[in-house]
Amino acid sequence: MRDKTINSWTLLILWIGFPLVLLLLAFSYFDLSAFTEPIKRMLGDLFDSRPGLKTWLVIIGTVTAGVLMALLLAKRIRRRLWARVLGRNALRYGREQAVYTQGIVLPEVCREEVLAFLEEQDPVSILNHLLGLAISSQASDIHISPQKEHSLIKFRIDGILHQKASLSLSKTLSLVNRIKVLSKLPIDIHNRPQDGSILLDQDHIVRVSLMPTAHGENVVLRLAIKDERRYQLENLGIPPALLQHYQACLEHDHGVIFLTGPTGSGKTTTMYASLLYLLEKRRDRVHIVTLEDPIEMSFDQISQTQISPAQGLTFASGARSITRQDPDVIMLGEVRDEETAQAAIQAGLTGHLLFTSVHAGNAIDVFHRLQQLEVDKIQLMNASLAVVNQRLAVCNCPACTVPVELTALQVQMLKALDLDARGPFYAGQGCEACGQSGFSGRVPLFELLEVSDPFRDLFIDDAPKHQLRELAQEQGLVPLSVQAMQLAQERRIPIAEVIRVLA
Ligand SMILES: [Zn+2]
Repeated sequence: MRDKTINSWTLLILWIGFPLVLLLLAFSYFDLSAFTEPIKRMLGDLFDSRPGLKTWLVIIGTVTAGVLMALLLAKRIRRRLWARVLGRNALRYGREQAVYTQGIVLPEVCREEVLAFLEEQDPVSILNHLLGLAISSQASDIHISPQKEHSLIKFRIDGILHQKASLSLSKTLSLVNRIKVLSKLPIDIHNRPQDGSILLDQDHIVRVSLMPTAHGENVVLRLAIKDERRYQLENLGIPPALLQHYQACLEHDHGVIFLTGPTGSGKTTTMYASLLYLLEKRRDRVHIVTLEDPIEMSFDQISQTQISPAQGLTFASGARSITRQDPDVIMLGEVRDEETAQAAIQAGLTGHLLFTSVHAGNAIDVFHRLQQLEVDKIQLMNASLAVVNQRLAVCNCPACTVPVELTALQVQMLKALDLDARGPFYAGQGCEACGQSGFSGRVPLFELLEVSDPFRDLFIDDAPKHQLRELAQEQGLVPLSVQAMQLAQERRIPIAEVIRVLA
């Protein structure tokens, strides 16, 4: 997408430049002395009679020009000007930049200011603008939530909901109908949950979820955008030294890499990025298969299979037969039963590189969880390459971050986590840049446990957890708590996030 500021500058230059060129043409083509001479003479007389006037005029002129320039340059003023002068026109006549299937046309001018004029638009145009804005602001979801008198429209950006606009209930109803038509859902059903999707093109899918509420249907549009840059290991925000270690783990041609962390901590993104990394590195010499529930994003050259228990395809049954597809690399969405665990370990032992996620509190607990699933510990250790324990923390907005005092509760919670409560710590206060949330972007915390031979021996000898952890730290594991506190001290994340991701 092109930088929108270019458009406003182009306009500004045209506004000033065009009259200037006309004036120059007028002077060069016509003899204007008949008009200008009397004015010159009049001004000459005026300045002769009042000697100080010329100096004052120069001072006033310079100051006015300076103030005008400052006003034009001030971002806020520029945005307001844009909203006033061009907002309506942008909405009405915005040039189209992307035409999708089903008549969805995203406007080139996707400025927030258009949200103020939504009510005046027809449902087709409202949806186009909401989708256009959501894509350009990298929102993951659009919420349309009917209230008693109107609906609230919110965008989820970096995991945080931002309220963007409101809409009358009658307008909302026609907007919801438009969404239902596009996602091929019956428009006359309002009293039960419905799910559908709108395919914009190969790279853009909108998943639609409708839920009846007291004031109408609540709509959530989830934007699944295939932006390969988002799935590049280098772009995940993993510190360079850690990334190198992780990439070294990916060099193995067999073994299991486990991922753990709560829902929404970026495990799937890390797995996808790892697969794409291998695909790029090994070119067409690698066959990658996945078993997923759900398939969050589809990629070329990866055979992705959706788990469907209704059709008898579970993780366990899929994992059993997937090795017969002659894969080099396997991604297995999740291990939560004995059969799947067995199949995963066997795949790792028999020449496949396998990624999977396991629900556990920390990296070492992953192995204990697998032991609970009746996996033989010697086989487990022989198959395991590494465990990634991942969290996703919301960052402070760099534009409005200030030092803050901890609350008594926060001090208490830090103590409970065995962390140093001495600051200084920082938090975003909310500004225009971050939509008053105080947050901007997210950063991953990435605890990498590489399974070494000494670790294997210790684990097979049934060493206690703390001893395993000490060994892992000696061999380079940087605990999540250390990473989180460092980010907090570097002003990157608020202390509330440290507590949230570690608790
Ligand atoms: Zn801010």
